[in-house]
Amino acid sequence: MKKVEMNPYMLIKGRISEILNLTPDVKLFKVRIDGIKDYLPGQFFMVSLWGAGEVPISVTSLPSDVLEFCIKKVGRVTGEIHNLEVGQYIYIRGPYGNGFPTDIANKRGILMIAGGIGISPLRPLIEWLIKYPKGRQIIFFYGSKTPKEILFLDDIERWRRNGIGVHLTVDMADKKWNGPVGLVTELLKSVNLNFEDAISYICGPPVMIKATVKELLSFSMPEERIVTTLEAHMKCGIGKCGHCYEGSKYICIDGPIFTYKEIVDYALSL
Ligand SMILES: Cc1cc2nc3c(=O)[nH]c(=O)nc-3n(C[C@H](O)[C@H](O)[C@H](O)COP(=O)(O)OP(=O)(O)OC[C@H]3O[C@@H](n4cnc5c(N)ncnc54)[C@H](O)[C@@H]3O)c2cc1C
Repeated sequence: MKKVEMNPYMLIKGRISEILNLTPDVKLFKVRIDGIKDYLPGQFFMVSLWGAGEVPISVTSLPSDVLEFCIKKVGRVTGEIHNLEVGQYIYIRGPYGNGFPTDIANKRGILMIAGGIGISPLRPLIEWLIKYPKGRQIIFFYGSKTPKEILFLDDIERWRRNGIGVHLTVDMADKKWNGPVGLVTELLKSVNLNFEDAISYICGPPVMIKATVKELLSFSMPEERIVTTLEAHMKCGIGKCGHCYEGSKYICIDGPIFTYKEIVDYALSL
């Protein structure tokens, strides 16, 4: 029998069931969708709105009938998506990309390092690790510009109660903040972990990724166990348009998750 290939450009309609205003420019969209059941933490979908355009957005929930997307308003398409209300529809295609590798995390200490909205793709990975604990030590570092911009604080408190070591830092404190102020890389210096045997998952702005990788290498973490996301402009998500081609890799299909070993030449210029 002939295998029927699904059209990779096929859009699936999803109804927005809930919208949470996380900060003035970040919203969490819960989208009820039929027909997409399997995806991995770290994978992304192309999310579109008729008349506005299409953008790649990481899924921030574990597989279920309701997909969650945490979207920061930065420009035209994300701005239009932010204007949507509960009950309206968006269109998605995917899942695309490779997802976080989890087999190399077995029996190792795990460092999760997020900057800003970079917490979004790590959130389902942390939920997955809580669901399948396997006795691993998990430490979560999260840097935000200000205390008000810390995303998913309720989840973070629950992760803490589930035994995850949580370390938050901000660039600028307010009157209520009594935690550390400064870069997330500063917090790494005080952690009690065998870096040579551990694995790290990083997601954040390029400048933060570069500084974090440098710090982890200085603690002798092996290049193949420094796992990071890379972002790029992309139109198709499936290796056709060429917009995200960097240093012999397509970020959309070879990534967006890479080990540092895979991207060492490209990452030096991040
Ligand atoms: C694999 C992947 C996963 C992503 N996941 C998320 C997510 O979970 N949540 C989220 O809010 N955003 C995510 N992004 C970024 C998001 O796709 C962009 O913010 C969005 O495409 C901007 O579209 P726009 O039309 O609103 O802005 P535009 O008007 O196109 O651009 C506004 C500004 O953002 C910059 N920009 C646009 N796209 C990118 C990009 N891909 N990388 C770097 N800078 C960009 C532009 O240069 C410009 O300065 C992800 C990107 C990728 C590649």
